[in-house]
Amino acid sequence: MQFGKVQIEKFQTSTGAYSIVTDREFYDSQITATDSESEILQHHFKKENIHIGPKKSNPDLARKKFRLYPSGEEIFLNLVFPKPEKSELRLYLSKMAGFKPQAGHVWFMFEKTNELWIGAMPEKVWRSENSVYRNDISEFVYQEVIHETNDIKIQQLRERDVFLRNRKLALHRMQLSKYKCEFDSQHNLFISRYSQKPYLEAHHLLPISLQKEHNKSLDVLDNIFSLCPFCHRAIHHAENNLARNIIHTLLIKRPTVLDILNLQQEDVYRYYSIETIY
Ligand SMILES: [Zn+2]
Ligand SMILES: [Zn+2]
Repeated sequence: MQFGKVQIEKFQTSTGAYSIVTDREFYDSQITATDSESEILQHHFKKENIHIGPKKSNPDLARKKFRLYPSGEEIFLNLVFPKPEKSELRLYLSKMAGFKPQAGHVWFMFEKTNELWIGAMPEKVWRSENSVYRNDISEFVYQEVIHETNDIKIQQLRERDVFLRNRKLALHRMQLSKYKCEFDSQHNLFISRYSQKPYLEAHHLLPISLQKEHNKSLDVLDNIFSLCPFCHRAIHHAENNLARNIIHTLLIKRPTVLDILNLQQEDVYRYYSIETIY
């Protein structure tokens, strides 16, 4: 699949693709490029410069230069159109050449300064490195700020919320949601002993940490969702299916949130690194 905004920013590229190495591809030491991978390979090496037929019939033409991520080491791998009709493009994996990713690992490539970078890592590492959300510790402080009623304490706490989220917007959203969890209004809530209102947490669906890269404010009502503590932890920590289900439901509820940064649902999944990698 093609790189999303997260990968484009992470790898500082304009185009890239990633997919999972299958058992078969690992065993056969060859990868048949997906459409998006094929597009990048053909764009980079130029279709007419890619060898047609078995690699042995023209080893020099079949051999292509890549840069290995992250070291930048130059490596050479064979790339051919096995059939004259150029219907599929095949990349040969080789331990000796320096690139033989494990089955189940994510392998990826991207163009940068006229070179084609290639790399692989375990799926868990890929997902954790591509998730924008896990490190937002100040979000806990933000929840405290929302429920605090003592102005002096609010002021003290606010200094620890590095993104300075506006508590009034969160309170307004909770009021609009009639003090219910926006994923499921039946979810059980306890009463906060501070605010005396049902306890909800406020979550910015599009990560506020991306604010520095965008002119449009992400601290807006559309982007703030009232969630019960269970759903809020789940959106950050649950396995992919449940987290996707919550986000999908929230987006049905308020699709306008996508307009803020001109996104597709899939882009939002990528922010959380819970997309299905195919
Ligand atoms: Zn959150
Ligand atoms: Zn809930």
